[in-house]
Amino acid sequence: MDEKSDLKVQNLTKLYALVMLKSKEAVTGYYILNKLKKDLGKTSSPTYVYDFLKKLKNDGYIEEIPTEESKRSKGYKLTPSGVAFTDKIFSRFDNLIEVAIQSKLEICASCGVKLYDNYYSEKVGNKTLNFCCKHCAKAFKENQN
Ligand SMILES: [Zn+2]
Repeated sequence: MDEKSDLKVQNLTKLYALVMLKSKEAVTGYYILNKLKKDLGKTSSPTYVYDFLKKLKNDGYIEEIPTEESKRSKGYKLTPSGVAFTDKIFSRFDNLIEVAIQSKLEICASCGVKLYDNYYSEKVGNKTLNFCCKHCAKAFKENQN
């Protein structure tokens, strides 16, 4: 273990924050908090997430970059040493990450395709169902009748 001793990734919040940093161009603390809530049903304290980002930045693993999403909040991206750091963490948690993410993925109620960030929700009967697109929703409803 040659990690800096004070930077430990010992829970899903931190791990998932790293997953987001790895998978996106620019990630804001706000985005991380929202995604945690949406994907994992976790409400994390903003302080906790921002402190973690600050630590990553102090250790040179992420750098600030401007974002289009929000002028007020800063975006972060991994530095080359941050990429190496996350790769090392991920190799340790590989299966865990997969399980955590897969189990929270919705699937299209019509065609069964996995739904990531963008999907289409529509009320069918008294339930709100998720579809990959409007066409699938339409096909699904036609099959119901
Ligand atoms: Zn579909």
